[in-house]
Amino acid sequence: MTSALVQSPDIQKLLDQVSGLNRADGDERLKRLVRHVVEGLYSAIDAFDVTPEEFWRLVSFLQAAAPEFGLIAPGLGFDHFLDLRMDLVDKAAGVEGGTPRTIEGPLYVPGAPVTTGKARLDDGADKGETLIMAGRVLSSDGRPIAGAVVDVWHANSMGAYSHFDQTQSPYNNRRRIKTDSDGCYEFQSVLPAGYAVPAQGATERLLGQVGRHGQRPAHIHFFVSADGHRHLTTQINIDGDPYLYDDFAYATREGLIAPVRREAEPEQIRNAGLNAPYSKIDFDFVLTPAVREDETRLPSRPRVDHV
Ligand code: FE
Repeated sequence: MTSALVQSPDIQKLLDQVSGLNRADGDERLKRLVRHVVEGLYSAIDAFDVTPEEFWRLVSFLQAAAPEFGLIAPGLGFDHFLDLRMDLVDKAAGVEGGTPRTIEGPLYVPGAPVTTGKARLDDGADKGETLIMAGRVLSSDGRPIAGAVVDVWHANSMGAYSHFDQTQSPYNNRRRIKTDSDGCYEFQSVLPAGYAVPAQGATERLLGQVGRHGQRPAHIHFFVSADGHRHLTTQINIDGDPYLYDDFAYATREGLIAPVRREAEPEQIRNAGLNAPYSKIDFDFVLTPAVREDETRLPSRPRVDHV
């Protein structure tokens, strides 16, 4: 039986999207079957109040049987469903505001180097366009939070992540940045590119059958944490990407699309210590107060080990 939460408009819209029913291509019968099965699974998660930890243990088990389950899950909207469900639970409890959450994805590597204030994320090998991103971590009353941790990871200009792409140096484009006394963080790296599920893999074949693709727009992942505040798992999207509103994993959310400013004035370039035009993103993260101690911690799920 479809639960009341799964009947909410946002989740019904997600079901139409994941099953390809809003697209012209693909097999109509398979689309209706996929929608029915996925709606039943979303309802089971809701009816049994399956926790994210339990869900990730299940995905890990299924991945042991078939490795692409880690991509099929976000492709069928499960990761985004868990976010929408937590949003609805929060709303019912009167918890609102703060930077929106969005999916973690499977490519986080724990243990990245820690710096305070400013960090250089890339090792200099990537000749893509330089990105400088800066901002503050704020509490919901607008107060800057000193000593908050911005744990950032992103793909290189070829759409590949260090550790999973062994040609990159360890922890390339991965750092933990502690905010300074004014709550500020800043990093320099290389503008990431979007990426896709493996060509001709099981995920791409399934998505193709229902008229979909497996592309993700360019994005940057974050965990943001501070004492007394809820742990935030989120991403920002690079504005202007052709797949911005057509992410196979549905991670794009209003409030997470960061405008990108192209800095090409010679004086501006010199002041940044660079010698070519670069992209600049300004973005503040807003954390909500934690009610329980466990809300301050990174939710547990199977992840790769320290490298
Ligand atoms: Fe990613």
